Amino acid sequence: MLPAGLPDYHVHTFRCGHAGGASREFVEAAIARGLSEIAFTDHVPLYFLAPGKRDPKLAMREDQFEGYVEEVRSLAREFEGRIAVRLGLEADYAEGFENALSGWLAKAEWDLVLGSVHWVAGDWIDAPGAPRRFEREGAESLYREYYRLLALAASTGFFDVLTHFDLPKKFGNRVFPPLEEAEDRAIAAAAAAGCAVEVSSAGLRKPVAEIYPEERLLRKLVAADVPITFSSDAHAPAEVGWGYDRTLPHARKAGARAFVTFEKRRKAVHALPPL
Ligand SMILES: [Zn+2]
Ligand SMILES: [Zn+2]
Repeated sequence: MLPAGLPDYHVHTFRCGHAGGASREFVEAAIARGLSEIAFTDHVPLYFLAPGKRDPKLAMREDQFEGYVEEVRSLAREFEGRIAVRLGLEADYAEGFENALSGWLAKAEWDLVLGSVHWVAGDWIDAPGAPRRFEREGAESLYREYYRLLALAASTGFFDVLTHFDLPKKFGNRVFPPLEEAEDRAIAAAAAAGCAVEVSSAGLRKPVAEIYPEERLLRKLVAADVPITFSSDAHAPAEVGWGYDRTLPHARKAGARAFVTFEKRRKAVHALPPL
């Protein structure tokens, strides 16, 4: 099934150091699949790490930033009337570095800013070494800290959409029973800030093989009136709009009846297309 009428609001270009394909091919793939919009959302330069620790395989370098903004703007002009190409950013939230982040966010007129928590308790929560962290540090403490940071991220007001809401499950690490209080604080913070969440097919391509967020959490988010949008976290043109035959029914099953899009950070609400 084609993802007709839905946006793909999370797409990476070669600049992030771990994606491939010409940016134009991502847009062409979005048109071919009947998407309504595509947002480029490369990773903000790793402002919260010391310059020597900013791995160019994880996020764009500072000197690539202007070229990124220029390229997305020029694609938006080129494809005007065929598909909306949005200028976005996947911005890491790092506690204590809010001023630096707000400096980056002021550098361009974004259509949408994604808020991501990848850096948890001094290291990545989603890097290949993460499963060993779960063994060493314990799933409960990592999950608790992750949701604490996610709640803080939402309440900064910096972000339009929170990404991969239950990211710590990426390699299959879980807490039983789930830390509902910690989750609920992040959900309440998102609702209070008017922050949306993405329903992302990326987790289906990861060891956990599950959509972000899982149905139990998405149901709570929808019940709390947190708006949703759709994304693939594509790192190649073939992944644009990927997995929507599963994410759309997932959203409906969790009770969602609408999704949101963004232009210049203004939110528009649309009815979910039929299955
Ligand atoms: Zn991410
Ligand atoms: Zn991403």
